[in-house]
Amino acid sequence: VTSTALVGDLIGAVGVEHVVVDPIALERLSADYSLEPAIPAAVAAAPAQTGELVAVVAAAARHRAGIAARGGAMSYTRAHSPAREGTVLLDTRRMDQVLAINETDLTVTVQAGCTWEQLYLALRPHDVRTPFWGPLSGHSSTVGGALSQNAAFLGSAGHGSAADGVLGLSVALADGRLLRTGAHAPRSPGLVDRHFGPDLTGVFLADAGAMGVKAEVTLALMPTPTHVGAAVFAARDIHHALDLMTALARPGVASDIYAFDGFYHRLLAGQGFDAALRWPWTVNVVVEGPAQEIVNAQLVFLRRQLAPDATEIDASVPLAMRADPFGATRTMFAAEAQAVHLPVHGIFAPSAAHGAADELRDFADRHRERLARHGIGTWTMLVAVGRRLILEPTLFVAGGYGDDGGDPRARQVALELRRELARHLGRRGAIHNQVGKYYPFRELLDPVSWEALAAVKQLLDPDHLVNAGALGLAGAEPELVAEPAPERTRGAPA
Ligand SMILES: Cc1cc2nc3c(=O)[nH]c(=O)nc-3n(C[C@H](O)[C@H](O)[C@H](O)COP(=O)(O)OP(=O)(O)OC[C@H]3O[C@@H](n4cnc5c(N)ncnc54)[C@H](O)[C@@H]3O)c2cc1C
Repeated sequence: VTSTALVGDLIGAVGVEHVVVDPIALERLSADYSLEPAIPAAVAAAPAQTGELVAVVAAAARHRAGIAARGGAMSYTRAHSPAREGTVLLDTRRMDQVLAINETDLTVTVQAGCTWEQLYLALRPHDVRTPFWGPLSGHSSTVGGALSQNAAFLGSAGHGSAADGVLGLSVALADGRLLRTGAHAPRSPGLVDRHFGPDLTGVFLADAGAMGVKAEVTLALMPTPTHVGAAVFAARDIHHALDLMTALARPGVASDIYAFDGFYHRLLAGQGFDAALRWPWTVNVVVEGPAQEIVNAQLVFLRRQLAPDATEIDASVPLAMRADPFGATRTMFAAEAQAVHLPVHGIFAPSAAHGAADELRDFADRHRERLARHGIGTWTMLVAVGRRLILEPTLFVAGGYGDDGGDPRARQVALELRRELARHLGRRGAIHNQVGKYYPFRELLDPVSWEALAAVKQLLDPDHLVNAGALGLAGAEPELVAEPAPERTRGAPA
């Protein structure tokens, strides 16, 4: 039950039109794409600038209410979905402004609720770009969400993941103070470097929003490469695809490297791209540079990294994805509107990736009959982040995210199998982005690292008000949701 006084304070902070108390709206605002349980927030408030954001956090703190930030709600790991009754949902989507573009120093400062697409479009006239320039969900997902999940995709082979491009943050702490980290920390006005003494920025990156609420972010920029080239190589199986990706990623020349299996090939064929259809796997590589000769030379160099018999096929797919980076996924999955997709992933060093691929094969063998009986399909995508490899298998099952829930038993089985897969990937040495409230982070972490992290949380948020349960930092509250209870899952994300 939300106190009238808290709602009054939130209205005072952001205005009555930006506070939500309607239970149905709150249920939708609190859902993500995990199909996992969420306790609807008690109230939501949407600030438009840092002062308002700080006022919302401070109001929650005064009333000892939990608080969870949300961006685009495009996650599938119960990341922003409250695990505790009475939570204030801080909706960052009105904080979507690009505050300062500095073309000389190559920095950009944005409000945390700015989407990757908005940022990309704002930077484009200046011929600059962030090196990692967004997840494929960047039409809706935000800079703050991606930094909290450490998202990866566009530019990730060459420039790493979202967290790698951050110079500084301004973060509202649980008690309502604003902490400035990295390049935001010095008293001088210039944004110089992330490191001036020990850097606190990392504590708030890949943190599932557990450590504080990001208000403003400064990211590094680079001149936008004027020329782009691509190549696609066919692979016999996932192991061959991993070998090709490892060889292509090793020199650090490519901007993007990702691989699709036959499921994706069929989706692509539905869009008119049928070159991959006869192959079990394809590896896509994108290079970019300031001149066509440089791009051509990079492609020649990368081809030489592969065995002379590597089969190269038409490169239209990566070029088409590049032309519509934030819309391509939606277009491809348009025909799949009547299925829910439940991805899970592990990040591996190249030396461990083959073991993880064996795990996927064993999983499919073990559950072949069960998957068929419940009509559960699977597909897998691979993505290079620097020299590391993400293996992302997805389970999919008929039905929608909203009211059309499909067969509840099939969903339940898909959710169970997804958890099993996550555990098995963990045993093979996976680490994870998007830890949210899903992956068994504590179990996978060295105990002293966990204790140090828990101590930092204790220092910043002694009452576990900020996104309780994220990263498994649950505090001692008995009402936290511990295990999935799918019947509580309702509604698609708003
Ligand atoms: C179709 C589709 C495509 C996708 N493609 C990719 C992809 O290519 N790469 C990839 O890595 N992921 C991908 N994802 C997953 C997801 O979109 C990303 O993790 C994305 O970065 C989430 O951003 P968001 O703004 O939606 O965050 P949300 O889902 O709203 O929140 C994510 C987490 O961040 C926290 N958070 C949000 N804003 C703040 C803030 N200001 N301060 C503190 N904490 C905050 C939340 O509390 C939560 O814990 C995809 C998902 C879908 C559905």
